[in-house]
Formats: sequence, C-alpha cells, structure tokens
Amino acid sequence: MFKPLSTILRCNKLYNKIYLPNNVLKTEPVRNFNTTNKMFKSSASNLQEVSKDQVQEFLNSFDTVLTDCDGVLWIDNNAIPGSAETMNYFRKLGKRIFYVTNNSTKIRSDFAVKAQQLGFIASQDEILSTAYLVAHYLKGIGFTKKVYLLGSNGIGEELKAVGIRHIGVGPDHVQPDFKSMKPSELDPEVGAVVVGFDEHVSYPKLMKAASYLYSEECLFIATNTDERFPKASSIVVPGTGTLVRAVETCSDRKALVLGKPHAYVRKFLESCGLDPGRTLMIGDRCNTDIELGVRCGFQTLLVLSGVTSTKDLERIRNEKKPPLPDVVLPKLGDLLSLIPS
Ligand SMILES: [Mg+2]
Repeated sequence: MFKPLSTILRCNKLYNKIYLPNNVLKTEPVRNFNTTNKMFKSSASNLQEVSKDQVQEFLNSFDTVLTDCDGVLWIDNNAIPGSAETMNYFRKLGKRIFYVTNNSTKIRSDFAVKAQQLGFIASQDEILSTAYLVAHYLKGIGFTKKVYLLGSNGIGEELKAVGIRHIGVGPDHVQPDFKSMKPSELDPEVGAVVVGFDEHVSYPKLMKAASYLYSEECLFIATNTDERFPKASSIVVPGTGTLVRAVETCSDRKALVLGKPHAYVRKFLESCGLDPGRTLMIGDRCNTDIELGVRCGFQTLLVLSGVTSTKDLERIRNEKKPPLPDVVLPKLGDLLSLIPS
C-alpha cells in the first residue's frame, strides 16, 4: 500500500525498517530481478520507433511514476518543453507520482512551489530530496549531536525541522594565515559531517570538515555524488560529487551516500510500498537515475535532455556499464505526441 512521505517520516517503525548499519549500506549488492515481465528489457529502445500499440501497452504497464527533476523536468528555472504536460497527463491517468531528486539545495515545500510555478501539479508529500533524506537518516539513528554542514540551507532547514542542530552554512572566507587554524576553533559538539551542494565551498571549510572527520566517531554523510549539473550552454557546472570527493580525499574516509542510486533511497522507496514491476523511473542520468531503477527492479525511461547524451548512451551500450534504460526519448515531452488518440 502506498504511503505519503509525511506518514513515513512520522512512523518510527518505518525508521527502524529502513535503517541499516553503515557497513551494509556501503556493500549493497546489485539485486537480480526477474525482468521477463518488462516490455523492453534494458534494450534502450527509442519509444519514437515503436508501434502505437506498444506505446499504449507501455503506458498501461506502470501505476507509479518516479521522476528525477533537473534535466528531466527543468534546467535551472526553465521548464523543459512538454515535461509538465506529460507529468500532468500521467496524473490524469491515475498514476501516482514521486519527484525524486538528488538536489539538496531546497526544502521539499520549496521544490513543490518551484514545480507548481513551472506548470507541474505537485505537493510537498510527493517530493523526495536528498536534503530530506539526510534529516530522515540522522533522525532515524537517534543522532543528537551537532552537524558540520558543508552544504546549503536546504539541508539546514530539513535538519532543523527534525530538531538537529547544524553549523557551517554560508561563506567561510580564506584568511591570509589560513593554515594556522587552531583546534579550539572546532566545535566539540559536532558528531557528523554532511556534504551536499555548497556554492560557498572554500579551503577553510575543507579544513574543518577533514578535521572533524579525523575523529573516527564522527559520521561522514553525503547527499549524492553527481559529477555536474545538466547544462544549457557550454559552461560546466560542477556538482556535489566534486565536493564529496574533495572531502573524501583530505579526510581519507569514504562518505555514506544517501541519494540515487544508493541503498538508503532505495530502502526508503521500498518502505513506501511500491510495486517494483508496476513502477517507472524517469531520469536523465544513467549512473544515478537508471542505475537506481535497475537496482529496484523498476522500468526505466532515459531522457536525453540533461546529463547523459546520445554519445554517452552509445558508449554505455558498448561497454554495458552502467546499465541501459528500457526506453529512451529525446525529452519527456516527446511522449505526448506518441500517445494513441
Ligand atoms: Mg537529473
């Protein structure tokens, strides 16, 4: 039975159900699902090249739609043409919708407002972001210390909502004698370092994160490891993975990553009572969105309007790693013109 996210957050039993020790989360095996019922079986079939009957059969083959946001629905503050109409069409068909994003810069209500402003029907309970997952995870393990946050207000607000204190958000400028930081400048109450997207990343922040992590008792959590943001021009915008790798390098530790395609978000989704065989995952990245879909046994739709390009897809097809999606479209909005009338 499907449960709203807010119900899950309130339900302590489910905290326990989806909490796993770190070593289990870090060594997640890839599960082998029976894919005989899946129509396109990781063939990366172009939906524009199949028959109208197959498109109809595909549309009938799922009840729940999980969609990534950046690169699928919008880029920055601009909706990708046709995406809102397609998502709203799914809703009109009675399909349940989750917006599942690795983006950690906003709280869920802000994501819902952004989606609504861009034409998507969306409510806060349908948003699953990594900022929310961080708060959910720490609350679930009974964390009571303070978080050093190399991240943004989105995570800070979600932590605050579950009563967890944090420091570190905002600029931390480099001083001329930057190497002379003293241990007394570290907060002894910090018990976890969380790394998310931080536009104010700086050398002092890396020093503090690594210094807190010098203590083995200090938890090390990351929202996601996306290499870069989807781009609308030739400018490359480094993603959270850039910062996670930097902190991993200087601390000589490995972060527990909560977002797609890792175990925690998968366990979270499983706790929502989804039927994997009747769920579609839509994404613009093979190594996060499609990988998550494959690990969960969902059907998968890759759109080429974001990070993974046609050239990347060809390379993935040749190397067979990471896994291929079931179906592909240039952009989500292209589905509308394929729907039989
Ligand atoms: Mg994306």
